[in-house]
Amino acid sequence: MSERRDEIAANLDAVRRRIAAACADAGRRTDDVRLVVVTKFFPASDVRLLADLGITDVGENRHQEAEAKAAECADLGLRWHFIGGLQSNKAAAVASYADVVESVDRAKLVGPLSRGAHSRGHDVDVLLQVSLDPPGADGRAGADPAELDELARRVDEAGMLRLRGLMAVAPLGGDPDDAFARLATIHADLLAQHPDATVLSAGMSGDLEAAIRHGATHLRVGSAVLGPRPRDK
Ligand SMILES: *Cc1c(COP(=O)(O)O)cnc(C)c1O
Repeated sequence: MSERRDEIAANLDAVRRRIAAACADAGRRTDDVRLVVVTKFFPASDVRLLADLGITDVGENRHQEAEAKAAECADLGLRWHFIGGLQSNKAAAVASYADVVESVDRAKLVGPLSRGAHSRGHDVDVLLQVSLDPPGADGRAGADPAELDELARRVDEAGMLRLRGLMAVAPLGGDPDDAFARLATIHADLLAQHPDATVLSAGMSGDLEAAIRHGATHLRVGSAVLGPRPRDK
């Protein structure tokens, strides 16, 4: 166990150094960029180690796994980010443990998320997931940029959901700088209408520097901290 702790601590150190260097290059403060460690496929014991190493935010992408881990780690006081594809029939349940739902990409999710937040008696932060893929691309996740206004309005009108910003994934194989530059423009447009939507969740293990250059406030980093995911090896 302590070997695993040492491994995670060393990886975390390297990631923190990458973040600090990218912030310095971009003239940004390290404090303005929050690290969300993506723990999908890794056991709750790793989540405990992360909490012990000072991590405050963790991300999960599958409801059943997230629900079980959040329950197992309820004593740690972590912020749980749901970052995966969301089915409307699971959305209320996700809102019962997630503090931030980053993957809201269609209006149909808003009602169930709001109901879930009500039954928990706790506001839930919402990020709208926007697609940076070309229209019609395969396996596209996220709303079309043109749909964001309407989606933002729906979230604003719903009880107990707080619209906090945007989330996006850079398209596979493309230049992340191009994608995140577009994302920054989309974020500026949203902010003009919704001044509280200050969060920009972008950047993963492979492209966090590009995300920081283009204003990311939250990075979602998995493999660079925890190693290759057990089921993707
Ligand atoms: C898995 C995942 C990540 C983390 O990816 P790494 O490349 O392991 O850092 C980030 N964002 C989303 C949406 C993910 O599903």
